[in-house]
Amino acid sequence: MSIRRLPPELINRIAAGEVVERPASALKELVENSLDADATHISVRLSAGGIEQVEVVDDGCGMAPEEMRLALERHATSKLPTDAIDRVTSFGFRGEALPSIASVSRLTLESRVSGEDGWRIAIDHGEPAGEGPAALPPGTRIRVEGLFDKVPARRKFLRSPRSEYAACLDSVKRLAMARSDVAFTLDHDDRRVLTLQPSEAPARVAELLAHELDRHGVGIDVTRDGLRLTGVISLPTFNRGVADQQYLFVNSRPVKDRLLAGAMRAAYRDLIARDRHPIAALFLDVPLDEVDVNVHPAKTEVRFRDPGAVRGLIVGGLRRALDEESQRSAAREQSAAPVMWTNSESYARDFTLERPAAASVREEQRSFTPIGFVPQGRAEPAVEAVPSYPLGVARGQVNATYIVAEAEDGLVIVDQHAAHERLVLERMRAAREGGAVPRQALLLPEVVELDEPDCDRLEGAADELAGFGLEIERFGPAAILVRAVPAALGKTDIQGLLADLAGEIAELGGALSLRDKLDHVAATIACHGSVRAGRVLSVAEMNALLREMEVTPRSGQCNHGRPTWVKLAHGDLERLFGRK
Ligand code: ADP
Ligand code: MG
Repeated sequence: MSIRRLPPELINRIAAGEVVERPASALKELVENSLDADATHISVRLSAGGIEQVEVVDDGCGMAPEEMRLALERHATSKLPTDAIDRVTSFGFRGEALPSIASVSRLTLESRVSGEDGWRIAIDHGEPAGEGPAALPPGTRIRVEGLFDKVPARRKFLRSPRSEYAACLDSVKRLAMARSDVAFTLDHDDRRVLTLQPSEAPARVAELLAHELDRHGVGIDVTRDGLRLTGVISLPTFNRGVADQQYLFVNSRPVKDRLLAGAMRAAYRDLIARDRHPIAALFLDVPLDEVDVNVHPAKTEVRFRDPGAVRGLIVGGLRRALDEESQRSAAREQSAAPVMWTNSESYARDFTLERPAAASVREEQRSFTPIGFVPQGRAEPAVEAVPSYPLGVARGQVNATYIVAEAEDGLVIVDQHAAHERLVLERMRAAREGGAVPRQALLLPEVVELDEPDCDRLEGAADELAGFGLEIERFGPAAILVRAVPAALGKTDIQGLLADLAGEIAELGGALSLRDKLDHVAATIACHGSVRAGRVLSVAEMNALLREMEVTPRSGQCNHGRPTWVKLAHGDLERLFGRK
């Protein structure tokens, strides 16, 4: 065995394997460099999702020609003046992004320091490819072309220009949220996709995540033990089918940390269905010595000195904000009351009627009810003998959420939303098997604005969606025209439905068979088409629901696997009252 030193060229390529995974990661490095150079305006141009070209132009400090040469060398950086790796405030500090990118592409670097002349250096897969004067305004322009053209092993892993574009858009969004004071533009294939003026963080986040956060968001601002958490999270009712819109920024650095996902889940526990995900943009400010940013070559992960404290701050801060808000929002939006599931297992367990547990269910629900709560239960007097329906006849509704029915052999309680959702799903399944799902044409087609990757996904699934009676058409780059909806849906929030479907398609990707995918789509549609918890039902409506449940397969479980009804047999009731 002979040990030898690797040639620099090879070292760069190896590093590129870690730093530059795809166009979006190269783009991220370049934009970070512009931010580190104190740019106030950054424009990004992409061709073919960044596979053909990524260009970043900034008005930052620029570089003199000799600095440019150095910048292209490995481990050359201007960002560690004190040589203190543990006190990094810049995005960059490893000095490997530029040489790495240059080793796997054709890179042209042009730069000009204010008051000096501009200079250009070209590198072709790590080899110098000429330099000379360049005309440009003060700042830096970097163009990366043909990424991985000569690295087939990498090239192979690139996805379609569409997916690469989606990843690039995400990179830009993250950095634009991290630095709301900087102006950004993004062009894709010569079309302007984003124009962001300098603004404050909340406005920038609303612009990039969802304008609905204005109404459906909760502001966060908590400080504990020198840690500060600010940002916005969505109300439990404003949620998504995938956890793709949860952003964490640590000292202004976008990071992808599993800690966030876990903390979010804990904070929303029993406020949101298990397969639904809130939206969040959280900004955590921690003392520099509390966090190590040098744990990942792409600098997207961090290590906290005390992860428990960070998690506690997030869970506690979010939970408190949500609790406070739930009282307000419930009072405000009574008619469109939130679908808030109690945790299914504990729910089922409580129904074995150990009393302390049952009391805790009541506790929980009380926190969701508006101040000045007026009981909504209505009762239907039991005048006639009970006909022998398995689920009985409706006697009333409790909390506009549960139907209480009397059966021959006991008392039945039905979760109206869970049950109805199941019925809609089974109806759609049956109709699909029969060939045609009844659809309802919209008098006025509805235009739904979504971001471009979401529109692409929906457009790609248009045929399958049409099979469910959902007829859509592309309507410009960032909008979808809806011509018809499944008749089972009734009046529905079409925007929310499309956003969920797009999320669903993104998440499922190519992983599932067509049939499974269709099932997911059907379930998403069904959820939107169902009677919400919180809707007051007439006795006739309640009875109709019960009768349909009796004849529908699998109606005992909702689409999320929870029970749709429970029965207390006469024997149970007797035990409960100590008669037996
Ligand atoms: P790092 O960012 O970790 O220092 P890079 O390889 O990304 O390493 O960049 C090397 C150096 O090139 C930076 O430290 C910086 O001095 C310089 N540089 C890169 N991009 C720019 C830019 N857009 N404007 C000014 N200087 C830049
Ligand atoms: Mg850098």
